[in-house]
Amino acid sequence: MSSFSAYTPLHPSIQPGCPLCKGQGYRTRADGEHAIAERCSCVGKCSFCGESGWESPPGDRWARRTRCRCGELNLRIERFNHAGVPGRHANSTRSPDSFKPSRDVMEAMSTVSKYLSGYKTTQENLGLILWGDVGRGKTHLLVAMLRELIFRHGVTARFVEFSHLLADLKSGFDRKEGVSTLLDPLVKVDILAIDELGKGRNTEFEYQILDELVSRRYNAGRTLLATTNYPPGPSTGRATGDLVAETLPPLIDRVGERVYSRLQETCDFCQLRGEDYRAKIAARGHDRLAR
Ligand SMILES: [Zn+2]
Ligand SMILES: [Zn+2]
Repeated sequence: MSSFSAYTPLHPSIQPGCPLCKGQGYRTRADGEHAIAERCSCVGKCSFCGESGWESPPGDRWARRTRCRCGELNLRIERFNHAGVPGRHANSTRSPDSFKPSRDVMEAMSTVSKYLSGYKTTQENLGLILWGDVGRGKTHLLVAMLRELIFRHGVTARFVEFSHLLADLKSGFDRKEGVSTLLDPLVKVDILAIDELGKGRNTEFEYQILDELVSRRYNAGRTLLATTNYPPGPSTGRATGDLVAETLPPLIDRVGERVYSRLQETCDFCQLRGEDYRAKIAARGHDRLAR
């Protein structure tokens, strides 16, 4: 991980006034299923090293060469490209032209903003779990956070959708690959972002694999970010919702007690509030019936 300052330009030849990348030096777009980042056309050859990646102090050809700072731009682009960000979220950021949250979500926005400005690569960082009903912009915010952490702090990161993750692990397991080998890449990244935590069938295999993943990351002191529809709080002893009352079970009943207690220890929970879209739909239904 790099100690590169968060606000130093990532490449000496970035054009600060570039309208395409807004002076960031990279642009992102969907490439099929995944989002990718590319160097912006405004970024020329490095004026220090001519893109060799190595710099010699001027006037001393025998001095030890050092890595040129221009390498940071390519490195962070590469890290973004390995993060598995979904293509539909290629341009999900916190900027107002990308994210227009309802007023109720502003509180969560400020929590996220504080979280990002307090994040330091030199210390252990708490994780953050964004929870709330569907349609509040949780995944958008999760991706925006991941993107900022990659480009501002140079972290290695991985975005995974919970049910895809479990399916991948299950098929690897069925191919007789060891669980710990399967989990290694997910344990090694600085930031693991899990979308839709708790969504799945709740088999014993799922509980176990999630427990192992969360425990290993916990022991390694690595950060977890996640979204979930399921609220924090005490167990109700039911892992499925009451469809009549439209209540969701708490997260603890979806991920198991052990995992939940580790999450509590290592993560803050941040609720994305907002209008209840189901109530709105129900209200529209009533209107139709009345007509
Ligand atoms: Zn540019
Ligand atoms: Zn250079």
